[in-house]
Amino acid sequence: MNSVRPRILIVGAGWAGFILSQQLDDSKYDITIIAPHQTFAYTPLLASAATGLFFSRLAEEPIRRAHRRMTYYRALATAADLDQKSVTCIPSILQPSGRDIPDANHPFTVEYDVLIIAPGCVNQTFNTPGATDYCFFLKTVPDAEAIKAKLLSLLEVASLPTTSPERAKELLHIAVVGGGPTGVELSAELTDLFSEMSKTYPHLAGLPSITIHDVAPEILGVFHQKLKAYALRSFKKHGVEVKTNSHIEKIEEDALYTKEDGRIPAGMVAWATGNKQCDFVESLHGLSKATRLGRILTDQRLRALKEDQSVLENVYALGDAADIFGNGLPTTAEVAVQKAEYLVNTLNRHSSKPASPFVYKQRRMVAYVGGTDGVIMGRQDWTGEAAWLAWRSGSLGWTRSWRRAGMIMASWAWNFIGGREIARK
Ligand SMILES: Cc1cc2nc3c(=O)[nH]c(=O)nc-3n(C[C@H](O)[C@H](O)[C@H](O)COP(=O)(O)OP(=O)(O)OC[C@H]3O[C@@H](n4cnc5c(N)ncnc54)[C@H](O)[C@@H]3O)c2cc1C
Repeated sequence: MNSVRPRILIVGAGWAGFILSQQLDDSKYDITIIAPHQTFAYTPLLASAATGLFFSRLAEEPIRRAHRRMTYYRALATAADLDQKSVTCIPSILQPSGRDIPDANHPFTVEYDVLIIAPGCVNQTFNTPGATDYCFFLKTVPDAEAIKAKLLSLLEVASLPTTSPERAKELLHIAVVGGGPTGVELSAELTDLFSEMSKTYPHLAGLPSITIHDVAPEILGVFHQKLKAYALRSFKKHGVEVKTNSHIEKIEEDALYTKEDGRIPAGMVAWATGNKQCDFVESLHGLSKATRLGRILTDQRLRALKEDQSVLENVYALGDAADIFGNGLPTTAEVAVQKAEYLVNTLNRHSSKPASPFVYKQRRMVAYVGGTDGVIMGRQDWTGEAAWLAWRSGSLGWTRSWRRAGMIMASWAWNFIGGREIARK
């Protein structure tokens, strides 16, 4: 295809790819974006969506926009020819269940002048037997929907006259694997949900329980020691058990097995730990990659590096799939957003001077621990209700449209007045 405007191809529509697709100058570039779902997920809002704090639709944003001149293909990139400047894709077909099935029989190729690689990471289960088949994950809106549906199903099965109290207790035990921010926030939201549900399901009082398992000796690894200790105390107060140094050996449909405790019955095991590269990134040869996590290494201007550390012109990489050589930045939305905004400015500018290097600005880190309690690590450490309030308002800060922010605020107001939709007063 002959195009007057340079063709930019973006792989992935997460925090990095979505921002680029919406903010790159569409009068200057021919923009194409490839992603397997037609929406972008606000990942920090997924735990709230999974526990019915608001409709899951509010935790996502459509990629297609009426005012944007841009091509979107609902597909997965499977390979790239970095010499011929083309990417091979396969369609990702939406099923009535809300899940996607890749269609390997109808591959197609997209050519580019500039390639932006931002497909994020996929879940790392460390090959734990049964994890892929039986665990619930939390990376996408369909994942959040699946968790919500399972929770509601467990509550109803536990309420049947044929279910003994002992069995109901087992069914309502939720095990969360991973004591990082995602596992902690999911546990916190589950605590709030069960507390609210106790009014709708009074006959199940005292039966639900939540356990966090982490192989590390403590949870919330990157937070200051006193904040970790505070989070532990708060969880204890809210009845969440934290099992550190816990080695998961296998998962079954209704139980997990640990080296320390053997079989532990659980109605649901949520897997919230570990990242690994997707097949597309793994398939890219000739690029420099980090030893840990296999992220694509770039220079300070986010240009991908070849194996000899020289720059591969017109190929950029960012988000969880990439890291700046020598930097070791975390796999967070914060980093992905800052890099995407930097790249938007770099590519949209009209100057021929090289852009100044990217510099990451560390922002405060927040974790909600349930019961309107939280911890914040920043210039100053905070805990308690103030931290919860900052976390809640921070949730709005993640949204990229006034429409979403307004709808989420309205949901909170309705919840306050009449209870969340799945636990109506
Ligand atoms: C539940 C949860 C809560 C989180 N909370 C926070 C938080 O509070 N603060 C924070 O800073 N970070 C948070 N994170 C981390 C943050 O979400 C990630 O660091 C961030 O999403 C990375 O952005 P990304 O653009 O690299 O990838 P992603 O946002 O993961 O997006 C990747 C995109 O690429 C697509 N894709 C994947 N493979 C292909 C392929 N082969 N071809 C085409 N497209 C592909 C995916 O479908 C997706 O659209 C959270 C993560 C989770 C899961």
